[in-house]
Amino acid sequence: MGSREERHRHNQDLVPLAALISRELKMEKMEKTSLRIGSAAQSRKGEDYFLIKTDCQRVPGNPSTSFSVFGLFDGHNGNAAAIFSKDHLLNYVMDAIPRGLGRDEWLQALPRALVAGFVKTDKEFQSKGKTSGTTATFVIIDGLMVTVASVGDSRCVLDAQGCNVSDLTIDHRLEENAEERERVTASGGEVGRLNIFGGPEIGPLRCWPGGLCLSRSIGDMDVGEFIVPIPYVKQVKLSSAGGRLIIASDGIWDSLSSEMAAKSCRGLPAELAARLVVKEALRTRGLKDDTTCVVVDIIPPNNNTPHPSPPPKRFTKLQALLFRKLSSKSSAKLAKKVSDVGIVEQLFEEGSAMLAERLGNDDSSGQNCGVFVCAVCQVDLSPNEGISVHAGSIFSMSSKPWQGPFLCGDCLNKKEAMEGKRPSGVKVV
Ligand SMILES: [Zn+2]
Repeated sequence: MGSREERHRHNQDLVPLAALISRELKMEKMEKTSLRIGSAAQSRKGEDYFLIKTDCQRVPGNPSTSFSVFGLFDGHNGNAAAIFSKDHLLNYVMDAIPRGLGRDEWLQALPRALVAGFVKTDKEFQSKGKTSGTTATFVIIDGLMVTVASVGDSRCVLDAQGCNVSDLTIDHRLEENAEERERVTASGGEVGRLNIFGGPEIGPLRCWPGGLCLSRSIGDMDVGEFIVPIPYVKQVKLSSAGGRLIIASDGIWDSLSSEMAAKSCRGLPAELAARLVVKEALRTRGLKDDTTCVVVDIIPPNNNTPHPSPPPKRFTKLQALLFRKLSSKSSAKLAKKVSDVGIVEQLFEEGSAMLAERLGNDDSSGQNCGVFVCAVCQVDLSPNEGISVHAGSIFSMSSKPWQGPFLCGDCLNKKEAMEGKRPSGVKVV
């Protein structure tokens, strides 16, 4: 029935739609943030590297799709892994994102692409046959959306306007992470302290052979595959007030807590803030290690504050509870938690070291990507070549061996070595 009333109602429906579109456009405009960046470093071994790239585009040639990338790589046992990661990680992550996605889908695809990119970087670096390893803390900023992926102990700290200081990373240190100790031991690594000729045990818990204090890194082929490159990933949306990120190597965090670092530079412009944090760390402990700090202020439009101002004194118990609870959970599933007070919206957090859990399931969406490609290294697979990431092994039948995502033979080998199912030391050369 095309009655007059109905047509009238239909026309009325169009109005909210137009309003919706204009609201969305407005939102997009609102999200156009600007960044102010500062960095400072004091080198001792020359193994800290950082990446600052503010001209990336989701759709090449379209400046309205721009985003920024920051990376910190603290190398050990040489600088080759840090340099390799700085040069390749971004490309490998971007290669793992399906083409033609809108902004929201692109942001949703990031956590999985980060996992694939980290694992590919590790695999490619190891194939060079060089020793050395590196932490990697990788930050993607698109408007008010901040996505962080990290292995090792280079932290990214958020000082949000009107909120408390919180870590967007967790430290993958054997000493401080019982869950990781258990995983490494179960996969064939030995965890213990340094013990010289039967003397007293000294220093932090390390993984043997190799003596690495970290439980995750890129590189380190001589330590063992159970030192995995699978990153902890967190995605948050800042409030319209913006916020400040402090990305720094353990040279800082061995002397300052996250809160101390954030508070020490509040009210200062980014460049000065970075220098002050480094200075503060050296004042406490001296130059014992490479010490690098990058400060990024995310400034919403129409906000002339060049840096986060001190938050209001009153910080509700609810906020504290919410943030602590979420960040202490290392393997929370996709969670959309909205802070009641609208401060920082946490959209994603996942820290599992199991590749199958991190790559998830490709249901119908897998077909959109077209042909079979390896979910990690993105090589084309012939239909009988790919092995489901969910298959127990080549020889065992999993419940859904036909379900994607799929891995190539090399990446399957790597997955099994990381899980301790294959002796580590079996390398792709
Ligand atoms: Zn592969």
